[in-house]
Amino acid sequence: MRDVARGVYGAARPVRPARDERIPLDCLRGHRLAIAGARSSYHHRYALTEITCGVCYALHDPLASWCLVNPARQHTVDGAPRTGLVLVRVPPDTRAGVGQLRLHVDGVALADIDVAVCGPCRRGVIEHVRTDEPHRRRGYGRVLVAAALTLAPPDTYQWSTTEVADDPVARAFWAGIDWPGDLAGPVYCTDMERAAGRLPDW
Ligand SMILES: [Zn+2]
Ligand SMILES: [Zn+2]
Repeated sequence: MRDVARGVYGAARPVRPARDERIPLDCLRGHRLAIAGARSSYHHRYALTEITCGVCYALHDPLASWCLVNPARQHTVDGAPRTGLVLVRVPPDTRAGVGQLRLHVDGVALADIDVAVCGPCRRGVIEHVRTDEPHRRRGYGRVLVAAALTLAPPDTYQWSTTEVADDPVARAFWAGIDWPGDLAGPVYCTDMERAAGRLPDW
């Protein structure tokens, strides 16, 4: 039983996107860390900075510690480290086509999202967020969405997603991640439609 708990919460930490390695304002339970107290350390398996909330730790909360992932640090498939938790970017074959961002742990993809971005039209569409079943609820999807937003900043790009529908799990995901885009459905430009083969190529 103890080993099971370690498998879920010990070695496998939740992750959150962070642009730097400073201690964030709040813990995963919403404690203000300036008051709760926080410790910064190094998570060897993920090769990432790990933050621990002093209050959650004292209360034995399984979400007391989490790791920070810089969403802008993205590797090519060939250049990605084979150890640790890293983001890998697979560019699309064609302009405005669908590329992929993947979250790897020790060289294995545990989550990915499909993303289309068009520079001239200033649009981005997230088509699919997938996390392998045993690895859900750790923040992998949240980190991947943050990584997509670094490709096309939401202050100048219109973002949308195909992924909400009527599924309460999907709706909970998008409601919880500070998504700056549209949730009414994908807003493709004609370049994206053409790249996807939905328009004649002329
Ligand atoms: Zn806390
Ligand atoms: Zn376009």
